[in-house]
Amino acid sequence: MNIPQSNLPRIIVIGGGFGGIALAKKLAKKEVQVVLLDKHNYHNFQPLLYQVSTGGLEPDSIAYPIRKVLQGYPNFYFRLAEVVQVDTVNRRVHTNIGPIHYDYLVVATGSETNFFGNKNIEEKAMAMKTIPQSLNLRSLILENFEQALLTDDLHERDALMNFVIVGGGPTGVELAGALAEIKKGILPKDYPDLDTRRAQINLVQGGNRILPAMSEIASQKAEKFLEKLGVNVWKNIRVTDYDGKHISTNTDTTFEAATLVWAAGVKAVSIKGLDAQEFLSRGNRLIVNEFNQIQGHNEIFAIGDVAHMETEAFPNGHPMMAQPAIQQGQNLGVNLVRMLENKPMQPFTYKDKGSMATVGRNKAVADLRRFKFQGVFAWFVWMFVHLFFLIGFRNRVVVFINWVYNYVRFDREARLIIRPFKKRYQDSPPT
Ligand SMILES: Cc1cc2nc3c(=O)[nH]c(=O)nc-3n(C[C@H](O)[C@H](O)[C@H](O)COP(=O)(O)OP(=O)(O)OC[C@H]3O[C@@H](n4cnc5c(N)ncnc54)[C@H](O)[C@@H]3O)c2cc1C
Repeated sequence: MNIPQSNLPRIIVIGGGFGGIALAKKLAKKEVQVVLLDKHNYHNFQPLLYQVSTGGLEPDSIAYPIRKVLQGYPNFYFRLAEVVQVDTVNRRVHTNIGPIHYDYLVVATGSETNFFGNKNIEEKAMAMKTIPQSLNLRSLILENFEQALLTDDLHERDALMNFVIVGGGPTGVELAGALAEIKKGILPKDYPDLDTRRAQINLVQGGNRILPAMSEIASQKAEKFLEKLGVNVWKNIRVTDYDGKHISTNTDTTFEAATLVWAAGVKAVSIKGLDAQEFLSRGNRLIVNEFNQIQGHNEIFAIGDVAHMETEAFPNGHPMMAQPAIQQGQNLGVNLVRMLENKPMQPFTYKDKGSMATVGRNKAVADLRRFKFQGVFAWFVWMFVHLFFLIGFRNRVVVFINWVYNYVRFDREARLIIRPFKKRYQDSPPT
């Protein structure tokens, strides 16, 4: 892999997401050699992916080059590489660009969409976990409206303008709200010759409330906001199958929709060699102790979405959110240095700063540590927090300007089909 040999201990970090980057920043200028491996050359700010999917933001404003984060850090190396296996016996990481030896290994591979084994849904539904997936969704949404204009079959036209989003967590809620705003503010102007009032946005939630990880009041208010925007909120319904057009559920309710977005769950990204049952908890997460070490390997750590740390306050592990990943990355950075100095490590304690979700213009819900609030103020706090955590000054400025512009003009100008999305099964359409 062409990484110079040195006398410094080599720490390999797999993944330049929230956890990996926070760790790298803590290790800057320390007496260690750090090799960061990621299959993408950019950090992806996932909380704003739904805005890319709905034309509110360009993808480059929520991505940041990993090499730029590491600029000026001595003894840091980035390699664009996909890790395929970890050999814990010989302390080697195998990648698509060759193997590399480690003294310490940090797994920060995050999570991926969980289709819970449903192959039809996996093949035909849209996921929204990466920037390419968000761009696919953006293209598909726009292509559907272009196609709806061309057909005289009312049934088909309705299916093309019917959007079903599965999963009432923040991702589903935010996407549903954004689509509803497009329906109201943009479609009638863009498609004056199409009856866009027939477009439907459906949010389907398996449980009895949306935003189940937030307070009751946040759930209720978010549901009210969505209904006000014209979103159909379906609760206690589980989607069981999809053939590209017909959606079945565990009840009598069915949908006909050309677009099904699956936002109903994630599972950790496991790596061969660390995927034995003894290492994993539910959801494929790597079981770690309070120092983020995996069982039986003091030299291997896992942080962020991929790590399952049980504590009294979080018996099912920490939430798969940016803050636990960032805080674990920071804590591990300190601990690795302490370990190398033969000092005791500090156990990880999660400082829960709360959670938020936005439904649309002037509409958000926030459960902070001391206060719970909803509406316009929550929306401003949501925007401020997201701007603050975005990486890169340029990205912050670009996103801020876009938001101001979109707010003033009631617009989302990135509604471009740059790379048309072709459904994989399109050549043999479902019967
Ligand atoms: C649509 C969406 C909205 C979200 N909204 C919020 C929100 O509002 N607030 C919040 O707190 N959290 C939110 N989250 C969750 C949050 O983004 C994750 O919890 C967070 O990204 C976890 O950080 P991480 O470092 O563990 O992993 P990630 O940030 O996912 O980074 C993992 C990295 O590992 C790399 N990688 C994976 N496998 C390999 C491999 N084999 N080889 C090389 N590289 C690899 C990936 O390319 C990626 O760069 C959202 C997530 C999604 C998908």
